[in-house]
Amino acid sequence: ASSIYNIPRAPPDRILGLTERFNSDQNPLKVNLTVGIYKDENGQVTTLPSVARAQTVLDQHEELNTDLSYLPISGSADFQSNVLQFLFRESAPQGAQYLDEDRISFIQTLSGTGALAVASKLLSLFVTKTAWVPDPSWANHCNVLQNNGFKDIRPYPYLKNGSLNVEQWLQELQNAPVASSQSNPQCIILHACCHNPSGIDPSSEQWTEILDTIHDLNLIPIIDMAYQGMDTGDLYKDAYLLRMSLDSQRYCWPNGLFLCQSFAKNMGLYGERVGSLSVVTPPDMTLKPNIDSQLKKIVRGFYSSPPGYGSRVANVVLSTSELKTQWFEDVKKMHSRLQSVRTKMAERLNWNCFSEINGQHGMFLYTGLSPSQVGILRENHSVYLNSDGRLSLSGLNSSNIDYVCDCMQKVTD
Ligand code: PLP
Repeated sequence: ASSIYNIPRAPPDRILGLTERFNSDQNPLKVNLTVGIYKDENGQVTTLPSVARAQTVLDQHEELNTDLSYLPISGSADFQSNVLQFLFRESAPQGAQYLDEDRISFIQTLSGTGALAVASKLLSLFVTKTAWVPDPSWANHCNVLQNNGFKDIRPYPYLKNGSLNVEQWLQELQNAPVASSQSNPQCIILHACCHNPSGIDPSSEQWTEILDTIHDLNLIPIIDMAYQGMDTGDLYKDAYLLRMSLDSQRYCWPNGLFLCQSFAKNMGLYGERVGSLSVVTPPDMTLKPNIDSQLKKIVRGFYSSPPGYGSRVANVVLSTSELKTQWFEDVKKMHSRLQSVRTKMAERLNWNCFSEINGQHGMFLYTGLSPSQVGILRENHSVYLNSDGRLSLSGLNSSNIDYVCDCMQKVTD
């Protein structure tokens, strides 16, 4: 019999659950290194100067911000043209040809997670229910795919003893018992840069090998670009995977290519939920209108239309050249602080599992600490890391870095 009593308790979110515990911790030395939110040297979450200036522009120009009616289902038209321009002409000029041929279906989404959710729903309804996800990966990937109809989620081995293992990864794809094919494709999640949680990314030679294999196997790439700008500090540079995949001399993606993109980290618009989904379609003019219409139908059933304010902020930043220049500076500054914290950690901590610290990218440091060491750090020292050993660098600053390093040294001695 079915009843409301059939609803079991779900485990707490692996990351957000820790913040709840942190908040009730009474230790004055406590340090929260769990969530990927940028904090400045004073431990504050601040608004990026470019974003603050965009907000002032919105305040001063009432006409830009007084219309609180619904946005269209697929988001604001301005957002669409600004973001397409930013992604497919500036970040990846290889995309211009697809724009000119009107082959990119686009919707404004509830940040990167919303893009992944809508993409998975579309794929599972019409194309495939099988997805390859790196092991390890962002914990929410499987959750989002499962919630949106994926039945077969296959981990591909990303790391071996803390290092990237491309050979094993590609072998796993090639030797799968049920292979992907053009008439029966499977999809694969790729972290565009700053792999979460490891911070370890393939080199461009390795990406070529990976993309060649994925292309040969008729896998559908889902590029998850949540950290554009946090890899090198240069927003354009960091879109390298997008540039490589859109090289039409080399790849044709007969079942499309999906890009899930987020302004959460690089504009600091976390809670405003600003991002996008782009589907690069094969060169058949009947496809894009079909996909456009299905994306709208999915969004209508999920949440009807996206929120307005954050996309208006992003529009002002992206379409005002002075603010855009400022934004590039802001991102560079965030990156350089994270990089200096990473370097300090690498200097302070000198045991085996840290050999790769300086080769890691992005907001996190993948410590190699075991779940039980992470547990001791939390219980005995009030230093909070994710159970997979991932540490958010932005939570560190001159007032707590020594304490954290001492504690980490203690749990590994
Ligand atoms: N993908 C990865 C790998 C992430 O780490 C995150 C955020 O932590 C996201 C996607 C999506 O984040 P958001 O929905 O806040 O844009």
